[in-house]
Amino acid sequence: MEPNDIHKVIAVLREEYRLWQVPAVTIVSECDHSPFKILVSCIISLRTKDEVTAVASARLFARADTPEVMQDIPNDEIADVIYPAGFYRNKARQIREIAQRLVAEYGGKVPDCIDELLKFKGVGRKTANLVVTLGFGKPGICVDTHVHRICNRLGYVSTKTPEATEMALRAKLPPEYWIEINDLLVAFGQNHCYPISPRCTTCRINSLCPRVGVKKYR
Ligand code: SF4
Repeated sequence: MEPNDIHKVIAVLREEYRLWQVPAVTIVSECDHSPFKILVSCIISLRTKDEVTAVASARLFARADTPEVMQDIPNDEIADVIYPAGFYRNKARQIREIAQRLVAEYGGKVPDCIDELLKFKGVGRKTANLVVTLGFGKPGICVDTHVHRICNRLGYVSTKTPEATEMALRAKLPPEYWIEINDLLVAFGQNHCYPISPRCTTCRINSLCPRVGVKKYR
């Protein structure tokens, strides 16, 4: 697709977005823009279905929604509360360690810059970008597997890893779309442009999409 086609793509996705199931972390951020909750929800969401993330996050935040309270909850209890999230024992340990460090080193406040967030165990670029964008409304591009896959299928980038996609998007994507691109493409990827057999025949942007790497579609 031509670089300028991104405006048409975003316009269509914005319209379709209203019909789709909203990603779990977005639901958390819409209810409450707490950077701490967004950070914790992101950690819970890794390798976990959205339905499970939403329920596990809500259960955990009913028990503890600040680093001060979270740091005193035993790892086993956090693990029980977020079960059946994937790797729930590891995540429980990470969540508690993050809460402890936030209190000890950051005055209980989540930092608002990506480089600082990356110093926490369990926090990768995807999580750091999501916290900065959804929690603080600052520029960032959160690239997960959906954003990476769809941007490549569209031919908007040609990259091998989500990190490379983030850097390519930072160089190319108009800044006004940086924050919402994750939401739009995660919802699009979960509801239409599936990892396997995307629904290309009914896709409203199929005339713009060269379907790079798509072997089978419906
Ligand atoms: Fe995805 Fe197919 Fe639409 Fe391209 S045409 S964006 S591959 S669903």
